[in-house]
Amino acid sequence: MKFKSIKSVLTAISIISICFALSACGAKKQEKDLLEIVKEKGKITAGVKYDSKPFGFIDTDQSLKGFDIDLLKEIAKRMLGDQNAVEFKQVTSSNRIFSLTSGGVDLVAATMTITPKRAQIIDFSSVYFVAGQAIMVSEASSIRVAKDLNEKKVAVVLGSTSERNLRTLAPKAIIQGFRTYTDAFSALKSGRADALTTDDTIITGFLYENTGFKMLEGRYTKEPYGIGFRKDENTLLFQKAVNIALDEIKSDGTLERISKKWIHESGATLKQ
Ligand code: GLU
Repeated sequence: MKFKSIKSVLTAISIISICFALSACGAKKQEKDLLEIVKEKGKITAGVKYDSKPFGFIDTDQSLKGFDIDLLKEIAKRMLGDQNAVEFKQVTSSNRIFSLTSGGVDLVAATMTITPKRAQIIDFSSVYFVAGQAIMVSEASSIRVAKDLNEKKVAVVLGSTSERNLRTLAPKAIIQGFRTYTDAFSALKSGRADALTTDDTIITGFLYENTGFKMLEGRYTKEPYGIGFRKDENTLLFQKAVNIALDEIKSDGTLERISKKWIHESGATLKQ
């Protein structure tokens, strides 16, 4: 390479050194575990549902409430000494994994079932609740079991386990996919769908507020909920700290208290 002047040589050298400095900075940043970053910013950025009562929902007073919200506050209290050291960001069933992998949130607690397929992309905490896939219909419906959903319009939320399972439970069901549970339920309510299938937890949330609907008896899956983490070696200390907090929450009776606050023994959603 031939440089025309000393000036251009100096320019080249400074560009090269800037590049080195930047890459060194970059490398240093990547060495930091998420736990250190969270401690520095003083809060956990958490992806939660806004449409899945009683796990994550906007109440009539416009505040965010639910099982997942309380669980995260307990985790923040144990990890950062302050239950308010958690910033909530809305996620849906279809974008929650992307919110993690893209770095938008540090973790996700959003009625998310631990599945082997998801575990290839993200990491999970231990199980903190077990739901089951159920079917919701109007009181007058003749649908009794999953196979009755064949040839029927069934509302599901895109990216949910129920969406996938429905293809095996009732291969001829006419699937109506929605982005949120609010939209899926509106379809059932307005008669654009004959049924809605999702976790029994979410269905009880709708039954709590709406008359004229029922949940069928069958449970077609086990849906163990876990907190999702970015699958990255720089999140391992963070994951460990969250899991330690979660273990404590389970063993000291806090998880049971949260569960009793939101869910009746019968599985029904409780009033707050
Ligand atoms: N727990 C199920 C899932 O992870 C259904 C509820 C949801 O959409 O979050 O897909």
